Amino acid sequence: MEFTQPLPKSLSPSRLADFQACPRRYQHASIERIPQPATYATAKGRFVHYVFENLFLLPALERTVEKAREYVEPAVEVILDEQVRIDIALDDAMLEKLLGETHQIIDAYFAMEDPRTVTSEGIELRLGVTVDETPLFGILDRLDRDAEGNLVIVDYKTGALPNRNFDSQTFANAELYALLCQEKLGETPSKIRLLYVSHGQSVERNVTDVVIKARSSAASSAWKKIQRYYADGDFPATPSPNSCRFCAFKDNCRANGVPVPVR
Ligand code: SF4
Repeated sequence: MEFTQPLPKSLSPSRLADFQACPRRYQHASIERIPQPATYATAKGRFVHYVFENLFLLPALERTVEKAREYVEPAVEVILDEQVRIDIALDDAMLEKLLGETHQIIDAYFAMEDPRTVTSEGIELRLGVTVDETPLFGILDRLDRDAEGNLVIVDYKTGALPNRNFDSQTFANAELYALLCQEKLGETPSKIRLLYVSHGQSVERNVTDVVIKARSSAASSAWKKIQRYYADGDFPATPSPNSCRFCAFKDNCRANGVPVPVR
């Protein structure tokens, strides 16, 4: 088929992850832009990001736990709009659960680091560059400057902790952000910190040139395929238990004869 919608102007780390998991998912999300209903988990993620984003927009010494708590109520208005409330079937019990979990996350986060001591170089930093004819764009949660003067990429995670032998996918998005920093800011971050705020734990990895080159090459290869599939009018479906499990397009795929695993 011929797509009537234009090809997106750039590739973000999360859209790249969509494509790598299943090209058809990329087609539905990024080309056809089929709405993906919010889930409790995605709403909670946005809720918590809102709190931390606003906390870090304050001068360092004002970033107290009390201030963080003050952003919880406004998050109800900003994040839980009418469509999100419908998508997640929000009722009083669910709202109470969400507020309770957010306050627990704030406590866990403050046990992990003191934001008054953090030197932040950017919050929700928008970075766009073209590398090897591949237009990349991403919004970075936080870019810190550590005590040694090095840049550190910080990404908030509200989901489950990776298992102890976390695979390369755990850091894949953040490593692409490191490439964006290198190309856009002319400085390569030395480290990535993933803050699993629900658990009060962080996992870290040093950034190496080898990894950045590998991520750059994977993004370029994906972008070339995206252009080819777009011209062909078809992004192949690659169903698997892992990729389909949390995919919003299961019904769509099944209706089109894709053998989506039942789980
Ligand atoms: S349900 Fe599975 S096959 Fe269909 S788009 Fe999602 S990941 Fe791909």
